[in-house]
Formats: sequence, C-alpha cells, structure tokens
Amino acid sequence: MKIACHCQNLQLELDWEPPQFQARACDCGFCSRHGALWAADPDAQLIIQIREPKQVKAYVFATETAQFQICQICGCVPYVSTVIDKQLYALVNLRCWSDFELTRIQIQAVSYLGEDRQARLARRSARWISKIQSSLAV
Ligand SMILES: [Zn+2]
Repeated sequence: MKIACHCQNLQLELDWEPPQFQARACDCGFCSRHGALWAADPDAQLIIQIREPKQVKAYVFATETAQFQICQICGCVPYVSTVIDKQLYALVNLRCWSDFELTRIQIQAVSYLGEDRQARLARRSARWISKIQSSLAV
C-alpha cells in the first residue's frame, strides 16, 4: 500500500494490504485535531522516501518520545516515528493512504493518557513497524 502526504513530498510504501485494516484513533489533542488513524503491521517492510527533507518537521510534545513527521508544504502527517534502543519504529496514518477507502478501515478508539514511559515504549516496540528503509535521518 502507498501512503503519501497531499503534495507527495513524503512517500511511503508498505507491503501490507489486508482486506480490512485495524486502525487506532488516539484521543490526544494532536491526533484528534488531525483525525489520524494509526496502523501498523509489525511484520511489514516500510520504505520511506522524501523529496525535500528540509520541508519535513518532526513535531514532538508531551513525553517527547515520538516524532510526528509533518510535511511543511501541505501540512499532512503520514507517519510517526520513534527510536527505542537504537531501533527505528514507525506507525502510518491511514488518512494518508493513497487509495483511501474508509469502508476497509475498522477504527478502534484508544486512550494512552496516563500510560507511563516504560509501558509506552514497550507497546510501540511490540506493535510498530521496525523493518524500515528511510531516506530521512532520524
Ligand atoms: Zn506534503
């Protein structure tokens, strides 16, 4: 599947195409405002290509353990990344799926408020994508 920001500055390819996607809608202030639908297959391979790296802003907040990759040209957030024990992990935003089909997405409402740092990192390293090829330094 292809994931991209609106202007195609950030282009991601993930070898994952289930009939139905399980996505998580997080209730934090940032994800709510973007309407983000986060998804990952921990076994999939992700290729991240960026045309203009200087136009990508890594936005961090709260625990500052995740970097929300925002295209400065079009404002979309195609993925979020984190580094745990020198390993890069990512989660893609299905809202940026090029062949977006809402009927193929099962949305689960989640809330991570109050989750401590240790639990947060353990959850991400278990569920997020780790086989990543990226043209952007992290
Ligand atoms: Zn863009």
